[in-house]
Amino acid sequence: MAKRDYYEVLGVSKTADDKEIKSAFRRLAKQYHPDINKDKDAPEKFKEVQEAYEVLSDPQKRKTYDQFGHAAFENNAGGSYGGGFGGFSSGFGFDDIDLSDILSGVFGNGFGFSSSSSKTTRARKGNDSLYKLNLTFMEAVYGCKKDITVDVYETCSSCDGKGGHGEATCSRCHGSGTVTEESRTMFGSFMSKTTCPECGGIGKTYKEQCSNCHGNGRVKKRKTLSVTVPAGVDTGNQIRLKEKGEAGVNGGPNGDLYVEFDVSNHQVFKRNGNDIYMELPINVIEATLGCKKEVPLMKGSIILNIPEGTQNGEKHKIKGKGVPYINSSKTGDLYIIIKVVIPTKLDKKQRELFNELSKTNLDDNNDFITKFKKFFKR
Ligand SMILES: [Zn+2]
Ligand SMILES: [Zn+2]
Repeated sequence: MAKRDYYEVLGVSKTADDKEIKSAFRRLAKQYHPDINKDKDAPEKFKEVQEAYEVLSDPQKRKTYDQFGHAAFENNAGGSYGGGFGGFSSGFGFDDIDLSDILSGVFGNGFGFSSSSSKTTRARKGNDSLYKLNLTFMEAVYGCKKDITVDVYETCSSCDGKGGHGEATCSRCHGSGTVTEESRTMFGSFMSKTTCPECGGIGKTYKEQCSNCHGNGRVKKRKTLSVTVPAGVDTGNQIRLKEKGEAGVNGGPNGDLYVEFDVSNHQVFKRNGNDIYMELPINVIEATLGCKKEVPLMKGSIILNIPEGTQNGEKHKIKGKGVPYINSSKTGDLYIIIKVVIPTKLDKKQRELFNELSKTNLDDNNDFITKFKKFFKR
């Protein structure tokens, strides 16, 4: 059966805040609690609600879920495999909720994710991992090769991921991985099936714990990988390194490693998608009389022809000098924005010349000033 979306399970929107999630959970937990609801689907529904709540109430897990969906967690659901991120093996995250008003004494000892025992023998893909990679502006625009060092969980080679040596059937659950317990509450007693505490649901015990992995079956390993960053990436873009994530379980393939880019700003060049914007400062004489300017671009430079009477903020488009599109021969454009800089300090000679100039009638040929003056003369 396909797993239902956690937001759907709780009946909240993707943008629901903590309060909405908490109250949806409270309502549904009460509705489906098997101690109250005798419907045969109730325990399953109850478990589903708990699982959804555990993820959506934890900001980190919720983020991971939004990004990777169920795949981020389900690989790790087996009780005995603790490593990696996510995973529901640790019981329920109910510490922040007080349901004692109606459900006193029920939580914490019932309704484990009993599916763990059946799952542990099946080959499963390892967890996906996420790595944030910082890039300079130019590295992102033109691409680069980067070495990254990541910690991944790998199957312990000493015990083949079993966690121990000298296998025997668990004496507590006789190999089933689950135990049935009777719980007494104010509503009477009920039977609940839980993961066997002795073997953690795998149905087997070992004479000796593996000293290499301390019984986890997995060991953390530091790895250096070479990442080829394609030209044109931007902050938030990801690339997937197939099967470079955490080790699979019971012979399953490794998870994937997602590398997410964080690109730093540049002092001169500003990026908007695949276009680049830069400001070119010119002085008031250059703007008035026009000039030719050598402008350094991201690669090389061009001679820009600035016509007589150039205004502050005028834009020059340089086609094809922007950021390459990822895996394409197309390239964005570059825009040079003219910034006319008014002198803040004049020497004696310059002041004389400006004074001289001010005696002439500069305003007469300017449309904007003429219109402005006309308006206020009415
Ligand atoms: Zn081991
Ligand atoms: Zn057992």
